[in-house]
Amino acid sequence: MDKDMIYEYIVIGAGISGCSVVNKLQKTSSSILLIDKLSDVGSGASGAAGAFLSPLLGKPNKFKDLISEALRYSTNFYKQNIPDFIDNCGTTRIPKNQNDIKKFESYIPFIDFDFTKDDKGYFFPLASVVDSYSICKELSKDTEKLLNYEVKNIEYKDDIWILDNQYKTKNLILTTGYSITLIDEFYFNIRAVWGQRIVIETSTCITHNYHKECSLSRTIQKDNNTYISSIGATHHRFVEVKKTNNTDTQSLLDRANDILQLKDVKVIKEIGGARASSVDYFPMVGELIDSQKTIAEFPYLKNGTNVKSERFTRYKNLFVLNGVGGRGFVLAPYLAKILVESIVDKKVIDEDIKIDRLFKREVKRLK
Ligand SMILES: Cc1cc2nc3c(=O)[nH]c(=O)nc-3n(C[C@H](O)[C@H](O)[C@H](O)COP(=O)(O)OP(=O)(O)OC[C@H]3O[C@@H](n4cnc5c(N)ncnc54)[C@H](O)[C@@H]3O)c2cc1C
Repeated sequence: MDKDMIYEYIVIGAGISGCSVVNKLQKTSSSILLIDKLSDVGSGASGAAGAFLSPLLGKPNKFKDLISEALRYSTNFYKQNIPDFIDNCGTTRIPKNQNDIKKFESYIPFIDFDFTKDDKGYFFPLASVVDSYSICKELSKDTEKLLNYEVKNIEYKDDIWILDNQYKTKNLILTTGYSITLIDEFYFNIRAVWGQRIVIETSTCITHNYHKECSLSRTIQKDNNTYISSIGATHHRFVEVKKTNNTDTQSLLDRANDILQLKDVKVIKEIGGARASSVDYFPMVGELIDSQKTIAEFPYLKNGTNVKSERFTRYKNLFVLNGVGGRGFVLAPYLAKILVESIVDKKVIDEDIKIDRLFKREVKRLK
């Protein structure tokens, strides 16, 4: 690696968000560096993911529209570009209880995807499971990487972003998941939702995915009488559970057995990670706003006066893709396309996923 080189793009964070971004950027640039503090790509939350791609059910709302759009896009994207690592075997969604049965029935007019009723619930043929690590690896395979390197400091000088006084780039993209120490902005909040999934061996063959109080994947045959399945995931919203633990493992096994009676089960892997959620659960995409300069110019923003986003002062060429929460493998390829088109073709990003909404909301709380 040439330390005097000025990259066109540096992307910090090699999870599904960063890997999706470099994959899109590669269509327009050959000068890209992908950095991660871990020893391989897809080793943060992305390595922990199941990773199930399944529709969001419910009454019409903007979040459901976003997930449906992203699910269509990302499923096609994986099938066309990385077919070996997506298993488009469909998922049966099972209501949890009597109340849930009524809810499911009320959602039927608003379901955005084909489905059929089966003996346990509703089967969605479009739903999939992907191999999270291999997807990240494939997406970033042609990109230059710097692994085992934690970026501690970023500064902007003479139209160039400089990382730790050594790596230089014209455009910097932060896809750092729940770790947001590089962004010193009050409106850029992330809630870490820790969780765990497990991989099991079983003598039970499962023909497609299920989702009830956990997701249970279709099995892959290991040998004559042994199959492998992935079960995810637990959620810890208010406590940090940084390590995998037996309580979560047992709870996943109980929930999976409530779906299907699994025989001769042996847990072969427990994997944990932190989902990065925004305060309103929508993603955070776009060029970062410099709040100090923007507030100095428009102090009445604090009183709720509307100022058009175009007039905000930005950190030049500093972009983010974050807040993909528990659906990173559904959202990231779709959002990477939107982010890269906004950088390269100056396309406008929808307000619902742009970071601007969070700035506008939080600035009113400043006194
Ligand atoms: C148990 C579990 C199950 C899940 N199941 C599903 C599922 O079934 N379907 C689904 O779609 N999603 C699922 N998710 C959510 C999904 O994993 C996340 O949405 C997604 O992985 C987030 O990707 P990311 O790239 O934004 O973040 P990460 O994958 O966390 O990547 C961020 C990367 O940035 C690096 N980094 C941070 N700061 C620095 C720095 N200063 N310098 C260098 N590197 C840095 C980190 O090392 C990390 O590798 C699950 C998550 C968990 C935890």
